[in-house]
Amino acid sequence: MTSRLRIALQKSGRLSDDSLSLLLECGISLNPPKGGGSRLKTEALNFPLELLFLRDDDIPRYVADGVAHVGIVGENVVLEEAQALAVVERLGFSKCKLSLAVPRNSEIKEISGLQGKRIATSYPRILQEYLRREGISASIHQISGSVEIAPSIGLADAICDIVGSGSTLFSNGLVELHTVLRSEAVLVTSKHFAESKVSTEDSPEGILEKLLFRIQAVGRARAMKYILLNTPNEAISSIVELLPGVRSPTVIPLAREGWSSLHSVVEENQFWSVIEQLRKVGAEGILVLSIEKMIL
Ligand code: ATP
Ligand code: MG
Repeated sequence: MTSRLRIALQKSGRLSDDSLSLLLECGISLNPPKGGGSRLKTEALNFPLELLFLRDDDIPRYVADGVAHVGIVGENVVLEEAQALAVVERLGFSKCKLSLAVPRNSEIKEISGLQGKRIATSYPRILQEYLRREGISASIHQISGSVEIAPSIGLADAICDIVGSGSTLFSNGLVELHTVLRSEAVLVTSKHFAESKVSTEDSPEGILEKLLFRIQAVGRARAMKYILLNTPNEAISSIVELLPGVRSPTVIPLAREGWSSLHSVVEENQFWSVIEQLRKVGAEGILVLSIEKMIL
């Protein structure tokens, strides 16, 4: 019997849409397709994958216990739940920070000011560990939601909470004091599963390798752009230096004597500085396209 890889995903929340989109970009179709709010479990149609939809806080334990082989969850939750997990791949979405914040008019202006104070958080373990490292003793009030209102109702002097854009802090009159942790969505597995040998291609370990291969191809494609440009032949060598490509750029002669078309890839985050340099050495007619998948 062929087995299926069981993956735990957040049922509904900030990780859900991007987790499902990643699987779709990996060419995996679901049954029933995206949506259908109340389901807890579904199977992929064209890949040996079973999906479990859970609260994000429960994902680390389900994966550590082996109920799911892998899971997609924020690093913040992985660290807080402190299960024996291994991060298999960083996924680049749901980027956020776990930050200490205080009311705008607070007398606390730096970390040392937290000594002896009350801090509200849903992340007691990460906060405790951070305070221990900094040699600060403060009392931690664990609350499960709406942490940002704790100072205004007199429950705490400071908070330690997830910050995305910072608008929630701002609208509650809070300012960030310090970033305790930077987090993004990660693919995790249990340490035990990570260390087990791939027995066959259709074992859960073998299926995870195939899934990971696809996830990495999608991740590389997201980080890169395909670039085409026209260049006078004497500038080709400078452009090749700027755009080394995967192995090396493709150079095709243009109908016009002395000119070529050059095709390569460029990293998204270096994109604008590279374009400026390309124009300086004589490139023109530059086209930049998205890449769907990238296999090395
Ligand atoms: P659940 O009901 O599953 O327990 P939740 O309310 O605990 O969900 P969400 O608010 O959906 O969790 O956030 C899930 C994860 O998304 C967080 O653990 C964090 O990693 C990330 N995240 C949270 N807030 C933001 C944000 N503002 N911007 C980006 N990522 C965020
Ligand atoms: Mg949660």
